[in-house]
Amino acid sequence: MIPENLVLLRSAIAHARAESPLAAQSVHLIGACKGQPEARIREALAAGLADFGENRVQEAQERWEALPRPARLHLIGPLQTNKVREAVALFDIIHSVDRERLAEALAMEMGRQGRRVECFVQVNTGEEAQKAGVPPHEADALIARCRMLGLPVVGLMCVPPAGVPPAPHFALLRKIALHNGLARLSVGMSSDFEMAVRMGATHVRIGTALFGERQTASR
Ligand SMILES: *Cc1c(COP(=O)(O)O)cnc(C)c1O
Repeated sequence: MIPENLVLLRSAIAHARAESPLAAQSVHLIGACKGQPEARIREALAAGLADFGENRVQEAQERWEALPRPARLHLIGPLQTNKVREAVALFDIIHSVDRERLAEALAMEMGRQGRRVECFVQVNTGEEAQKAGVPPHEADALIARCRMLGLPVVGLMCVPPAGVPPAPHFALLRKIALHNGLARLSVGMSSDFEMAVRMGATHVRIGTALFGERQTASR
């Protein structure tokens, strides 16, 4: 089932790209594997999926100890400063840089480990109290601070509010990215990835549409 899902998703992404002048040259499909059993991850690896996304550092550490390393491992969930050392050691790309303290801790840890981990700044485009991300009006300042610290910031990420059309959120994120000279957009999940691709996503994060329903309650 997962190899077939992957073929369908790739073809849907290709169609969405072909339809839109805003679409990116290429789109990375990240398998969002929180709450998924190991067998499904192995199936996706065998089917050639190169990008996997994790929400929690500890769950990721345990899982990937026992599995062949994928081409790229992404952290797509929130990161606490006390997990920065493990995160820098494990991940290739971090999508959830959303505050100055975290940016400072990451820059320092990358220096200590001599490891360069690409970063996305997460923007809370819906300004939801419970959601991670820097508020849109503070994004420029955080991006500037990250650059001052020498963090390799490559793009912006957002998770739009549930139950509203996502397009305005993708558009706002794109606007902030262009304004700051950032080329990559990490947007789009199972329910809205085609819209996200049409609006310029370079990274889509897909869980249930690829792997099926999650097996364990997990954020
Ligand atoms: C779970 C999750 C996804 C994938 O969600 P689906 O709806 O299962 O595709 C994408 N991004 C983040 C940040 C997530 O937590």
